[in-house]
Amino acid sequence: MSSETPRHNPYRSAAYVISAHNLRQLPEDTGLEVAFAGRSNAGKSSAINTLTEQKSLARTSKTPGRTQQIVIFEINPGRRIADLPGYGYAKVPARLRDHWKHVLQIYFHQRESLRGVVLLMDIRHPMRPFDRQMIDWCHHRGLSCHVVLTKSDKLKRGPAQSTLLQVRKALPPGATAQTFSASKGEGKQELIALLNGWYEIGAGNSGSLGRPLQDRIETLATGAEP
Ligand code: GDP
Repeated sequence: MSSETPRHNPYRSAAYVISAHNLRQLPEDTGLEVAFAGRSNAGKSSAINTLTEQKSLARTSKTPGRTQQIVIFEINPGRRIADLPGYGYAKVPARLRDHWKHVLQIYFHQRESLRGVVLLMDIRHPMRPFDRQMIDWCHHRGLSCHVVLTKSDKLKRGPAQSTLLQVRKALPPGATAQTFSASKGEGKQELIALLNGWYEIGAGNSGSLGRPLQDRIETLATGAEP
């Protein structure tokens, strides 16, 4: 249970849209998309499930490197989460890793609706080469980057805070960082507040940015554009 005060959580409405195996399968590039990236086993699925208060929206897995696709969740029309594959894990075959590195590089550079990247790192193993690569890509495109140090319950408060400070120091200007624990719910409100800023969700402004994706897919299928 979280010790933080429960507040309105706009991410509870997140729903699965599609698992894209290539960039062409992604939804229309409009509205605001926030990518969640992290090495396999970083705790990304657990963080998405905690954020959305849904037990199994993003699958959690003990077999790292299994998911090699971009999974899209819609929070409300025009606002999406893109759950990126964590190709950085050593057990992913080199060819697959290179393939996804290339796909993600194109995604980072071309995706117009990409508002920012939430980069998840296990607090016990932060700033690995994969993480530095993501930070670099964000920096080069001028994209917002927010580091979430996961599994903070695995460290005592002192070491957790000192890792947070070290990571903050290593980040380029403008990038931010926080600690997070899916098990304890710690850091959830901080993440919600950050995302609300990126998605431009505030008092009186949580409405949709467009028509529901499902509508648009049906329109495409029937050709019944108004
Ligand atoms: P992903 O591969 O990045 O999606 O990582 P998962 O969310 O599947 O988590 C990987 C492993 O770390 C699983 O065994 C989770 O139960 C565990 N884990 C994830 N978040 C936490 C956390 O906040 N605390 C602890 N103690 N374990 C966690």
